[in-house]
Amino acid sequence: KWGTTIPVEGHDELSSLASTLNFLSQQLQKQEELRKNLMQDLGHELRTPLTTLRSHIQAFYDGLWEPNRERLYSCLEEIQRFEALVTSVETLYEADIAPAASPPDLPLTDLNHVAQSAIQLFEPRCAEAGIRLELRTSDAPVRVAAQAQHVSQILWNLLDNAVKFTPHGGNIVVEVGSQDGKPFLSVKDSGVGIPETEIDNIFERFYRVDKSRDRKTGGSGLGLAIVKRLVELSGGSVQVKSRVGQGSTFTVMWPK
Ligand code: ADP
Repeated sequence: KWGTTIPVEGHDELSSLASTLNFLSQQLQKQEELRKNLMQDLGHELRTPLTTLRSHIQAFYDGLWEPNRERLYSCLEEIQRFEALVTSVETLYEADIAPAASPPDLPLTDLNHVAQSAIQLFEPRCAEAGIRLELRTSDAPVRVAAQAQHVSQILWNLLDNAVKFTPHGGNIVVEVGSQDGKPFLSVKDSGVGIPETEIDNIFERFYRVDKSRDRKTGGSGLGLAIVKRLVELSGGSVQVKSRVGQGSTFTVMWPK
């Protein structure tokens, strides 16, 4: 039966084969469990904006509400949330099926360029949110063996979070450089911070520290899962340092 453990008695080849089969069976069970949870979370996430949208439109239809600009805008926001979620799921799927590659098969991307374009994109949003945005680039090019589009997405997601979780009057610093020959990219914010016990969880798919508050910020709960996967694809790693009430720093580092 599926999930049964084969008893391992001796130390001969057959026992070793049985151990391997037991291990594989456990792994498959874990994967299956993960898949089921993901489907459940996805269903839940998709339902939330749809429920709001449905009740708004029902109220217009029943004549209980006048579809004024404000109410229509709130419908638009729910549609945007839905779209953002679908885009994130697609991005994650593409990143999931993309094979991990190593330097000769990857283009060289200058982190300075990626950071400069991202800053331009985020400047208006930060200005509107009353956040000071600073870029510290390196004089020399800082090249990593990674798809430019992936690096842009990584930085975009980190910046998006930094803006969402930093209150008015705060600041964000994006830094590009290399340490011991290893290229890095960091996003530091003076925002709400993340409790130490949550740091390991935040990269999980659909995980949010504060379920109700974080949902209101409009995130899909997939941003950091995408970051993690894209960083892994180019052989890098991501580190977080954070203090509640003081801010967070996300650093992505690549091999030499
Ligand atoms: P979301 O779409 O909700 O932002 P993410 O996967 O990007 O999802 O992040 C997961 C959770 O990690 C967020 O909901 C938030 O609780 C926490 N988080 C991520 N970045 C930051 C940050 N810069 N400051 C504080 N909390 C953060």
